[in-house]
Amino acid sequence: MSAKIIDGRAVAAEIRSECRERVRGLKDKFGIVPGLAVILVGDDPASAVYVRNKVRACAEVGIRSTKLQFPKDVEPRLVMQAIEDLNKDPDIHGILVQLPLPKQFVLAEVLRTISVTKDVDGFHLYNVGGLVIGQTVFPPCTPYGILKLLDHEGISLDGKNVVVVGASNIVGKPMALMLMHHEATVSICHAKTKDLAQFTILADSLVVAAGKPNLILPQMVRTGAVVIDVGINRTADGKLVGDVDFEGVAKKASYITPVPGGVGPMTVSMLLVNTIASCERWQRHELFDLTNYRPRLEIAQP
Ligand code: NAP
Repeated sequence: MSAKIIDGRAVAAEIRSECRERVRGLKDKFGIVPGLAVILVGDDPASAVYVRNKVRACAEVGIRSTKLQFPKDVEPRLVMQAIEDLNKDPDIHGILVQLPLPKQFVLAEVLRTISVTKDVDGFHLYNVGGLVIGQTVFPPCTPYGILKLLDHEGISLDGKNVVVVGASNIVGKPMALMLMHHEATVSICHAKTKDLAQFTILADSLVVAAGKPNLILPQMVRTGAVVIDVGINRTADGKLVGDVDFEGVAKKASYITPVPGGVGPMTVSMLLVNTIASCERWQRHELFDLTNYRPRLEIAQP
């Protein structure tokens, strides 16, 4: 068997083209332009690249983006104040803080400060809770993008065994919850899982987000499995690779995502989708009182 390579760039381009139409619609019908604020603290080169890509993607579809940059040693209260100001700004529909943050920050406090209604990364405690009970406000972008990829390929999850390798708050855990909401039987593996292969070999679909190159080898994958590689790792010679032995596993799987060009482009596209969805909600609830806002949950369809 030789797997079909899922072209994340192509699917992301389709989604961005839909985004462009939705942005045009908001502008033509209501005179509103969706706005995203991106907060970057410090000078981590990878974070700077991610932020640049997000800003560029916004421009591509007509979302207005604002970048707020702070020095590495900034006092957390100044960043929190900036978030509070953005929460009140009617031209801003999405706020994201690029992670990781320097060590003087308490991440949970920062995430809690972002208004639930503008939390387009979906990391606020309220949004995490919403995800648990299937009332998603903003689906976290990476797992949301993975579901879109699976849907695009017509891959069903209903009753399937899906194994998620990695249990982080931003990828593994939300992924597992979203898969459960799609009627999959989900196993979650992490660094302390004993004998990872005994789980992965049973997977109809395998989602790998551990950040360990070559973690998944062909003998750990069932013939015909769908393999989604979320990992992004840089090798000693500067090459980007995922967590899966791509060449070997592609011979056994039915579908596989490449790195780069698989999940990565989808993550940014879903950020655009969440920002537009936020702006559309804003437009529908014209008497939106930010100070006393208790979200009337619109259930996003992941
Ligand atoms: P993270 O916070 O470091 O979490 C990694 C998870 O993998 C943890 O749950 C860890 O287990 C688990 N893990 C580590 N080694 C393992 C092993 N040998 N076997 C099984 N599980 C293992 O990372 P993350 O933020 O979720 O990101 C994971 C990877 O995805 C990274 O390479 C990151 O760059 C990439 N990523 C890509 C995108 C994209 O858009 N393509 C988006 C986000 C992240 P413990 O919980 O037990 O420590």
